[in-house]
Amino acid sequence: MADIASLGDLRGKRVLVRSDLNVPLDGLTITDDGRIKASLPTIQALRQAGARVVVMAHLGRPKGAPDPAFSLKPVASRLGELLGIDVAFARDTVGDSARTVVAGLDDGQVALLENVRFNAGETSKDDQERGKFADQLAQLGDAFVSDGFGVVHRKQASVYDIATRLPSAMGQLVATEIGVLKQLTEDPERPYVVVLGGSKVSDKLAVIDNLIEKADRLLIGGGMVFTFLAAQGYSVGTSLLEADQVQTCRDYLARAQDKGVELLLPTDITVAPEFNADAPASVVAASQIPADQMGLDIGPDSALAFAEAIRSAKTVFWNGPMGVFEFPSFAAGTKQVAQALTEVSGLSVVGGGDSAAAVRQLGFADEQFGHISTGGGASLEYLEGKRLPGIDVLS
Ligand code: ADP
Ligand code: MG
Repeated sequence: MADIASLGDLRGKRVLVRSDLNVPLDGLTITDDGRIKASLPTIQALRQAGARVVVMAHLGRPKGAPDPAFSLKPVASRLGELLGIDVAFARDTVGDSARTVVAGLDDGQVALLENVRFNAGETSKDDQERGKFADQLAQLGDAFVSDGFGVVHRKQASVYDIATRLPSAMGQLVATEIGVLKQLTEDPERPYVVVLGGSKVSDKLAVIDNLIEKADRLLIGGGMVFTFLAAQGYSVGTSLLEADQVQTCRDYLARAQDKGVELLLPTDITVAPEFNADAPASVVAASQIPADQMGLDIGPDSALAFAEAIRSAKTVFWNGPMGVFEFPSFAAGTKQVAQALTEVSGLSVVGGGDSAAAVRQLGFADEQFGHISTGGGASLEYLEGKRLPGIDVLS
């Protein structure tokens, strides 16, 4: 697919870049600037090509109107620090401030527009309303580069509609992410192990559906374990249980067996009497969870078995923490799985917002993994086999 070189000579051209700068904020302080850093290679490449770079991004979920709590102003400052230049900030998306700021750019300079979701057209389901906003955005640029991987599964004005109005190309972050996802789905080196966890099985049904066809081994941990254990007829105490998904899990167990896919469930569970960081932890057999206890992590035997299965793989995709890693007493399973991923001689991929946060919080460096995806929803939708509108529109 077309990269920025396909846009021709960019010297003096205004290039609109959609980035994913949706960082966590505590007041005005950015608590994790990972997404800003991930957006730098494309912005730098455009600067070097002599473009006048106009970055579009969103922050949080404002209700289609300006809301100071969701201003990108702090992000403009951080982006400037990381680039080592002043980044001009437009106080609106397509108004006077945006036009003035863009008109004032020199070759190689960078501006950031205010949160595109301050305009109701950005996320509107109405094609015309979205199109109108996209028309206004398009007036601020001569070309468009799609680099916000976290939003490419969204049919939104600054992601999708704008690409139908300007010469468009794919940024480096999106190209890297799509390349990795292709490796996971088209011809993964085997054995291919998929590790799934997180809170709810209902969030991951479509992923399980699709990957059960492709993986050699599927390891299940996290809160979704208990619905699988219930499907095997065990009682799960007060653990997270989705009673309406028990039959679905039973079907998955049967399908895995049919396909010769090994579906590995934990054999022991770390439990506690309540959902609390200081709750006293103990380890029980997965088949023997006491009625008054809840499972908050996979147990030590299971963590060892999972780590072993992961280390022997040539391709690993992991989504969803193995336990409530936010509580140190229940982080061991997640930590061992993360550790094992760092020892894979092949491709290891971490996907999912909480999973990425978990590996960083547990002290791992991004470089220890083959790839940490920046877009949870987009990578899951791709792995579910869905089309991504923001990608399709570029080809
Ligand atoms: P991701 O964002 O990586 O896709 P999810 O959003 O699906 O992951 O799930 C992350 C959450 O799952 C974490 O906040 C973690 O505390 C929770 N979780 C993991 N194991 C359990 C469990 N046994 N009981 C309750 N919550 C759990
Ligand atoms: Mg999550």
